Amino acid sequence: MTAEIAVIGAGLCGNLLAILLARQGLKVTVFDRGPPPDAPEPAAGRSINLALAARGIRALEQAGVFTDIEPLLLPMAGRIVHEPGGDVRFLPYGQRRNERIWSVSRSALNRCLWEIARDRFAVDYRFTHDCIHFDAASLTATLRSDDGELAVRAGLLLAADGAGSTIRRSLEQGGRLSASEELLDHGYKELLIPADAAGEFALDPGGLHIWPRGGFMLIALPNLDRSFTATLFLAHRGQAGFESVTTDQVIGFFRDNFNDALPLLPQLQQEFAARPTGTLGTVHCEPWGHRPEPDDGRRALLIGDAAHAIVPFHGQGMNAAFEDCAEFDRLIATQGPDWNAVVPQFEAVRRDNTRAIARMALENYAEMRDTVRDPAFERRAELAFELERLFPGRFIPRYSMVMFHPEIGYAEAERRGHIQAGILAEALAAGEPAAALRLAAQLVATRLPA
Ligand SMILES: Cc1cc2nc3c(=O)[nH]c(=O)nc-3n(C[C@H](O)[C@H](O)[C@H](O)COP(=O)(O)OP(=O)(O)OC[C@H]3O[C@@H](n4cnc5c(N)ncnc54)[C@H](O)[C@@H]3O)c2cc1C
Repeated sequence: MTAEIAVIGAGLCGNLLAILLARQGLKVTVFDRGPPPDAPEPAAGRSINLALAARGIRALEQAGVFTDIEPLLLPMAGRIVHEPGGDVRFLPYGQRRNERIWSVSRSALNRCLWEIARDRFAVDYRFTHDCIHFDAASLTATLRSDDGELAVRAGLLLAADGAGSTIRRSLEQGGRLSASEELLDHGYKELLIPADAAGEFALDPGGLHIWPRGGFMLIALPNLDRSFTATLFLAHRGQAGFESVTTDQVIGFFRDNFNDALPLLPQLQQEFAARPTGTLGTVHCEPWGHRPEPDDGRRALLIGDAAHAIVPFHGQGMNAAFEDCAEFDRLIATQGPDWNAVVPQFEAVRRDNTRAIARMALENYAEMRDTVRDPAFERRAELAFELERLFPGRFIPRYSMVMFHPEIGYAEAERRGHIQAGILAEALAAGEPAAALRLAAQLVATRLPA
């Protein structure tokens, strides 16, 4: 078949793209290998819930759908850190009332976007269509369904088929693209903290819970049904790793390391045995945009995780994918559907930014599982907030730039963050708080533009 626009992948990125493109009057057909989101057995997904932040919200607003999504969100104002001895500390993410991130169910968000695309914008969906190959020379996708194989060509084919993208791998095998998939030596397993006997949240739902333990950690995000989804991040190998912590040992492992969480996980052993261990990694590839041979004006473009999957420790993979969608939409709004112009411009605007968030996400793993336990972390965060109050708009903590300031690109947040980290380190070395603040203020005045 020939489509005006074909999107492969009805995940978070594919569904938002479909809405944005259809709003611009373009005819969109979306294919996914899974069943529709309202199928009785939802497709085995990635994480159960996710943190949505300002970049994602801005893209949803641009698509005119944020008010549909809002009822699905639970605010998280900071990290709630559980110490080994049972003490609990709250570390705010920001210092303004609106500086919060939002826990959302992946399946509820995906279903909501799909329903809007289908019902409001007449987007054509073909589920249980598995893309098994992509021919790089003719830009033709081969999809397999119960009815056989279907060859799909499109004026624009958007590969939104996620981190394990078949389209990216076909292009790589065809020598059209160079890619690296750097797997982390840590994996994850999801566990359920149900509502308590009274049907209430078993933990404070106002933050993201973390049990940082140096080489590994447990986190938990709240769900609308008053449960939490907990995620255990462990190395694959080694003593405190998935290869050593067997189902028989998991209760003892939790007693030793996450004792206060243990009573909240009544099905720990069963879930630990039954749930798959997920892998995490960073994908880089280039180019994202492709033209056929001979060039007949059609284009293919990798987008979202298919182009730049990252580790989840900054809670930005979906947010970055949504920002991709919004940027692509802006380019079409200003230049029309001129794919020859829009595709390379998109890649030029997004490449450095997505590389920067990939690096910052890896750095954040060390922060979440380790640095956050260090009293120096809190002193640094307090000084950073103080500087933000003294120099509004000039000094903004890096975490805040990434999570709450979508007007600052990821690459710029990383660049400014580097300068700010130097200022904080030098100032804190000056000793007591008043001296540190004086020195920090001088350094801001000389190193950060007004
Ligand atoms: C444990 C974990 C926690 C995370 N937490 C966060 C978070 O808190 N905040 C955040 O912003 N991000 C988070 N992420 C990242 C986020 O999940 C991804 O960045 C996001 O899902 C990317 O969306 P996507 O549409 O590009 O890919 P996906 O959501 O993976 O969607 C890809 C779609 O393509 C379909 N597909 C795949 N292959 C084929 C094929 N061959 N043929 C047809 N269809 C196909 C799939 O069925 C799927 O529907 C997390 C990721 C993980 C693993």
